[in-house]
Amino acid sequence: MIEDDPAGEVAIGADVFVDDGAGLSVAVVGAGAVGATCAYDLARRGTEVTLFERGSVGSGSSGRAAGVCYDAFADRVDAEIGRESIERFRRLSGDDTFPFTECPYVWFAREGDDDVAREVSASVERMQSHGIVAVEMDGELLGDRFEALRTDDVAVAGVSGGAGYTDPGRYTACLAAAASGAGATIRTDTAVELSTDPPGVIVPGSGESEPFDAVVVTAGSHTKRLIADAGIPIPMKPYRVQALVADEPYTEPMCFDASADVYVRPHPDGLLAGDGTERVEADPDSWNRDASAGFAESVLAEVSHRFPAFDPSTVRAWAGLCTATPDGNPLVGEIEDGVFLATGFQGHGFMRAPAIGDRLARQVLGEIGIDAFDPCRFDGDESFDIVPGMTIESDS
Ligand SMILES: Cc1cc2nc3c(=O)[nH]c(=O)nc-3n(C[C@H](O)[C@H](O)[C@H](O)COP(=O)(O)OP(=O)(O)OC[C@H]3O[C@@H](n4cnc5c(N)ncnc54)[C@H](O)[C@@H]3O)c2cc1C
Repeated sequence: MIEDDPAGEVAIGADVFVDDGAGLSVAVVGAGAVGATCAYDLARRGTEVTLFERGSVGSGSSGRAAGVCYDAFADRVDAEIGRESIERFRRLSGDDTFPFTECPYVWFAREGDDDVAREVSASVERMQSHGIVAVEMDGELLGDRFEALRTDDVAVAGVSGGAGYTDPGRYTACLAAAASGAGATIRTDTAVELSTDPPGVIVPGSGESEPFDAVVVTAGSHTKRLIADAGIPIPMKPYRVQALVADEPYTEPMCFDASADVYVRPHPDGLLAGDGTERVEADPDSWNRDASAGFAESVLAEVSHRFPAFDPSTVRAWAGLCTATPDGNPLVGEIEDGVFLATGFQGHGFMRAPAIGDRLARQVLGEIGIDAFDPCRFDGDESFDIVPGMTIESDS
């Protein structure tokens, strides 16, 4: 899938194969988008990687994600990670890997929603100060730019060009295959437990811990339970979100109505839309995978309002899990000697996987992590409320 070079120096886009990880053995637990990327980035640096997955590759949240990707973040660190990820999606995508379709991203507030309108304007200003290509438009200008969009009730919008969409399942499968091509061992249908001091994993039934120089836990919504069982508490809560695909053709833009809390993107089968953050903690081993009654109806009503020509004949809807933290920032980095983790992406884990996987791999090999995402910034027993992931943040 991704080509190898017999000379030992392989480049995928600008991904060069080096050997600064040679001699280290690392277990990555969870083959979602983040774990598969991290496994690939460790393997291409010469590390001996084993990627453990309790089901099949991409069978967690990554296989249920909407695939909306953008660098339109108001916070400086988020903008940096977003930009790195978009650049990497562009570089790695292709006919033999996974599709990445460039598509402008629009977020807006409706007339009368003054607080959100202020946030939209401020977010554009903040993005521009971080070098993100984003512009502000009023409803009239937005309507001139995107004719399919009803904009007479739009107060203010932000439009960003560093955006696009992909198939999250194909991205994850591709990165896992690339990890395997770079020498990683992938063990699917293998749910492991974590052991610490020294770091290792226990394959249930074996009764023994397999030692590794480092263990990277990228187990998505299971991360808290997995590492709590090893005596490490983290403040993270899984929660349900929902999405649907309708068979009405749609081309652009991807947009987020911040007043109605609904997003849409084009999809090979028509249009994909989502909302429906449930602000209650879900059990990662027992949750409803179907969309709730009324979800499709309410989202379709919003979509029809925004795109008057919208008239689908079939709709399929589903649910999946996202993960929340007390401050809305993810937990990425070393939590205990040789134990690393990445979770708590608040609905933005897929779009950040290309950069987070790479950053995490480099951290395992000794580089400094991302301060704002340091998992040690909490005690682990904080109580907090789940807030929707897709909000406009302009104040940091
Ligand atoms: C409906 C929906 C829409 C979304 N839309 C977007 C979007 O448009 N853009 C975006 O950026 N994000 C989106 N997200 C969020 C995104 O899906 C997640 O943030 C992202 O997929 C997290 O990736 P991950 O690799 O951390 O976790 P996951 O993909 O959940 O992977 C974790 C893996 O760990 C495995 N695992 C768990 N426990 C063990 C164990 N003990 N041993 C071995 N393996 C284990 C699981 O089986 C799973 O495969 C959406 C989510 C949903 C549900």
